[in-house]
Amino acid sequence: MAIIPIRKFPESVLRQKAKKISVIGDSLKKDKAMQNLIDDMFETMYDAHGVGLAAPQIGKSLRLAVIGIPPEEEEGEVKEYVLVNPEIIKKEGERILEEGCLSVPGYRGEIKRAETVVMRALDRNGKAYRIKTGGLLAEAIEHEIGHLKGELYIDLLESPDKLFELVDDDKAVSK
Ligand SMILES: [Zn+2]
Repeated sequence: MAIIPIRKFPESVLRQKAKKISVIGDSLKKDKAMQNLIDDMFETMYDAHGVGLAAPQIGKSLRLAVIGIPPEEEEGEVKEYVLVNPEIIKKEGERILEEGCLSVPGYRGEIKRAETVVMRALDRNGKAYRIKTGGLLAEAIEHEIGHLKGELYIDLLESPDKLFELVDDDKAVSK
């Protein structure tokens, strides 16, 4: 496993539309390079204290992201998700959130996201799954799928005064 440097705004790979992954099903499960890439993405995300990381953030323009939702209580375990070729198939409601991004360090911004999302994707074994969720997981799903479209949360700010510079970046939950 390895920690990969995280690409920062305004690097062009963050603005590209990521390519669909063509290795699916059992072939994905057996694809050593892909499995290693997924492990490296989790390691890189945890090293950066992030809750999500999309492949373009480490310079790979692929429709792949990982999410790790921290436990609500201290003894709980991180809930991990691998998103291969994810698509949001339904969004409901609206809420205002303060988001941060590992590729835009030192800032947070206030943006609108859906209250709940329904997403379909493949897991790391190439199996299809579907999630309906709200909370931090829904936020992370929208944020990571944004990365796969070449979108950053700073594109979604209603006005420049909704972007805040951080004094202490360590306390921010970023993706
Ligand atoms: Zn991000």
